[in-house]
Amino acid sequence: MISSIPTKRKVVFLTIDDGWEQDPGFVRQVREERIPITVFAMRDAVEARGKPDPAGGVGRYVGAGKWGYFRQLRDAGAPIEDHTLTHPNLRLLGYDAQRREICGSAQVIRKEIGVRPTLFRPPFGNYNTDTLRAAATCGIKKVLLWTATVQPGGKIAYQVPDKRLRPGDVLLIHFRPHLAGDFRILVDKIHRRGFELGNLQAYLHAMP
Ligand SMILES: [Zn+2]
Repeated sequence: MISSIPTKRKVVFLTIDDGWEQDPGFVRQVREERIPITVFAMRDAVEARGKPDPAGGVGRYVGAGKWGYFRQLRDAGAPIEDHTLTHPNLRLLGYDAQRREICGSAQVIRKEIGVRPTLFRPPFGNYNTDTLRAAATCGIKKVLLWTATVQPGGKIAYQVPDKRLRPGDVLLIHFRPHLAGDFRILVDKIHRRGFELGNLQAYLHAMP
């Protein structure tokens, strides 16, 4: 389980969760500007089952491309990783139910994307020792949390009091309305502060 990447370089990592809102402009941005991102896809969001999180506002593209949208992101270089089937609070589930959520999601991603996920992010950041055990049996190598979240408007909500980016920070963003515009603001902000965007998989590979 890790929440940041050990490095002295001024580099941060962008991760994007769930998958309700599927704006084609965002895929173009990632592809054309070669922005390294890691996606944690949640089945019910991708397939637009149930109700999206209202906090992001009313979406224009909810479920628009289903898994095809994530195949486009894959083709733009973004790994598609595991974030459960239904977004439960895993701490409320026993080992077997947790395993169904994590392995079930890994199987769907394997089928739809063609690559088995090796990273897992627990919904809400809630996990316990059963989560880590279950994830390992589903082929997951690392469970990744985050150090800051990105709010609408590209505003960074830090978990540290001095409100500064740190080398190795992992930022959490959601697929939500206006993501392409918010993303532009965020990427510019990160560059202005002298940070680069890192390739998460390359850094994880280099970790001991
Ligand atoms: Zn989520």
